[in-house]
Amino acid sequence: MSTKEGCSPPHFLAIIQAMNRTLILETKDKVSQQVKLQGWVNSKRDHGKITFIDLRDRSGLVQIVGFQKLSELRIESVIEVVGMVKPRGEKYANEQLATGKVEVEVESYTLLGDCEELPITLDGDGLNIGEAPRLKYRYLDLRRPRLQHNLRMRSQLVDALRQILFKQDFVEIETPMLTKSTKEGARDFLVPSRFQPGKFYALPQSPQQYKQLLMTAGFERYFQVARCIRDEDLRADRGFEFTQLDLEMSFVTQSAVMQTVEAMVKQAVGVVGGKLKQKDFPVIDYQDAIKKYGADKFDLRSEQEKKDNVLAFAWVVNFPFFKKVDKKDIAEVRDSKSGWTFTHNPFSQPKPEFVQDHLNQQNLDKILTTQYDLVCNGYEIGGGSIRAHDPAVLEATFKIMGYSAEQIQESVGHMLRAFKLGTPPHGGIALGIDRLVMLLANEKSLKETIAFPMTSTGRTAVMVGPNVVEPDQLTELGISIKSQADLSARDQK
Ligand code: ASP
Repeated sequence: MSTKEGCSPPHFLAIIQAMNRTLILETKDKVSQQVKLQGWVNSKRDHGKITFIDLRDRSGLVQIVGFQKLSELRIESVIEVVGMVKPRGEKYANEQLATGKVEVEVESYTLLGDCEELPITLDGDGLNIGEAPRLKYRYLDLRRPRLQHNLRMRSQLVDALRQILFKQDFVEIETPMLTKSTKEGARDFLVPSRFQPGKFYALPQSPQQYKQLLMTAGFERYFQVARCIRDEDLRADRGFEFTQLDLEMSFVTQSAVMQTVEAMVKQAVGVVGGKLKQKDFPVIDYQDAIKKYGADKFDLRSEQEKKDNVLAFAWVVNFPFFKKVDKKDIAEVRDSKSGWTFTHNPFSQPKPEFVQDHLNQQNLDKILTTQYDLVCNGYEIGGGSIRAHDPAVLEATFKIMGYSAEQIQESVGHMLRAFKLGTPPHGGIALGIDRLVMLLANEKSLKETIAFPMTSTGRTAVMVGPNVVEPDQLTELGISIKSQADLSARDQK
């Protein structure tokens, strides 16, 4: 650290260092006052004897001026300055800046954290920079106003959702991250157990079963901002983990859950300044959506609404419960033993008029589920259902998927047991927070809404993961790695 004292005598310096920090935005109301500012050198214009810096902190930017000082400072280094707030005068005011009518004449300053030459440019939105350098230096990339805005908005949105739910008696409860491999439609991420070598935990694809068990436990209204982890094939904008607003309610009908969720979404979107197309979200039958839009997610906006980044939400209902297994989908092939699998969620309740067929395991292609999906601007934003809480119904779902009595016990025996110990009727939903923020921020990729997303090839940001580990870590876990030759041979199969 080096302190440039400017014209301040040493005893005066001691006094000013004890001064409280002023946030940059507050300087606009502190003309003729001495302030201490701390922040980053956003930009610098050096005119020989006089140097102008735009100093940045979390509240904004202000121009600071140094006479015979500041010129050696490098862009993006972190400094503390003490100086006098002065009016800029009409002619020099900068209308673009909230602090544009003032500037701070620097008396002394300290370098708190130097910055070497930047490995990526921070000018502009960064979208033209390759993904690898952006994510390697994500802590720099995140300094961009665009990403600062996205992450702050995400935080506000989650805060709004929490407040809305707390007001309605919801309880926020965490569920385990280390759990058992489940049949939820995707590949599990497995975690080896050190205490029981050869056995594995699975990371949760969602809190589905635990949240249902919280209904058995009598909480009636649960929510969680939950991290979900699925080992799915990567797409350009999708990593292995994502965040859901997960909720579950007891003693509810399908329309009661949909109403609660719709009211919550409208209110929270309003808090962060989102614009809605419709006051009431249209409810569209799955078959009609397929006929009309060719898919169960669709964009209801006009061209003008697209330009204005309006959000067009809609519900889709009356989905088929079952479908034939897609042979290319490893998780589907693994989860089903009969060639039939669920379209959305094996824990759902069929619509009342199909319960008998479901129990009889007949007319499988006709059975509709109580599933409801929320779509927005062409994306699925969330989905949920009323759950099967009658053990016979859940058992039938797994029988339809070809499970033997023993396999059913092994997979969902704990749920069937809970359903025999006083489980209320219940239903819920999960909303994708990353996607909702992506749409609100008018971004094209989920990565623009996540602080440290993965690369498109599944590598972690900033640090290199996945990576090799120490041999003794593997020994402890009872794991041995096949030779590279064996692994390549496996991959070529
Ligand atoms: N567990 C479901 C999912 O992650 C959501 C739900 O039905 O509540 O898609």
